Amino acid sequence: MSRAFNFCAGPATLPEPVLKQAQEEMLDWRGTGMSVMEMSHRSDEFVAIAEEAERDLRELAEIPEDYAVLFMQGGASSQFSTIPLNLLGDKTSADYVNTGIWSKKAIAEARRYGDVNVVASSEDSGFTTVPDPSGWRTRPDAAYLHYTPNETIGGLEFDFVPDSGDVPLVADMSSTILSRPLDVTRYGLIYAGAQKNIGPSGLVVVILRKDLLGKARKETPTMMNYQVIADNGSMYNTPATYSWYLAGLVFKWLKAQGGLEAMAERNERKARKLYRFIDDNDFYANPIEPRFRSRMNVPFTLADEALNRAFLEGAEARGLLNLKGHRSVGGMRASLYNAMPEAGVDALIDYMAEFAKEHG
Ligand SMILES: *Cc1c(COP(=O)(O)O)cnc(C)c1O
Repeated sequence: MSRAFNFCAGPATLPEPVLKQAQEEMLDWRGTGMSVMEMSHRSDEFVAIAEEAERDLRELAEIPEDYAVLFMQGGASSQFSTIPLNLLGDKTSADYVNTGIWSKKAIAEARRYGDVNVVASSEDSGFTTVPDPSGWRTRPDAAYLHYTPNETIGGLEFDFVPDSGDVPLVADMSSTILSRPLDVTRYGLIYAGAQKNIGPSGLVVVILRKDLLGKARKETPTMMNYQVIADNGSMYNTPATYSWYLAGLVFKWLKAQGGLEAMAERNERKARKLYRFIDDNDFYANPIEPRFRSRMNVPFTLADEALNRAFLEGAEARGLLNLKGHRSVGGMRASLYNAMPEAGVDALIDYMAEFAKEHG
């Protein structure tokens, strides 16, 4: 068996030691005679697994006690409606920043529930930059300000945390969470679909300030009500137990790597290497304003689009997988999440250099 370097944007590569541990524990979790998948979510064993995962996440991200951590289902996309249903409260409007495809999806869904004010958009530039916050048309009576710190498809990442004043800041961190240290206290709510930097898809982690609980609209589905989920320790119904367990293994792995500072350093190095190579080579290009280039998702184009197929086939033959860009953007995209080793980036650069030499 050999493991490829998988550059998929999500579901994404997981740390090999995590997969090995899951494999070892698959049939018999620590002498219980069963797989975690087969355990009651109410069992002492699973409750311990769940609590340990939350503790490790709190430690990693330095999440204060006045924040709840929820392990919900339905992916990040379900939060696009869960957030307005819970946070609009007695207000009618919310502010959104539009920096790409995921912002747009969040905006479209929120419009079903309230008056959405798009405070700024970089759509005119093809989402190659982040609008200057000095020009954002925010409203002081907004229920919250929503933004997408890392646009997974466009490869655009904020290099600052917006200042939303007293308005709670809400962030879709699906593709950037745990890639570097973060100051949770700047946010009212953080959410992240698990399949990029946390674990298997379907699970979505929500971190929210407890004073934002209890504001859900009456018609909010019970399963989407943060208060209900919080009161029940994310076990109002059967949670995604196996995904939760795997997320816990990933958190342990992150701690063993030296935590988020160490990840940030490694991620910075990986991304810098690849962008430098792209910039130094006429055959490849990345359209994003350098300051806002994503360290997690690196889109790039070839000088001749007709070579895309040959590029992908050659990559695949070397075990460099899933480099095809999103269908809406085209070109290529290399996702360099926490679990992508530096050797994977080196192998990619070697291949790109060779391909450019041959076809450039
Ligand atoms: C992947 C992703 C989503 C969608 O996640 P699902 O779990 O598929 O719903 C939303 N936002 C961002 C920024 C993403 O990267």
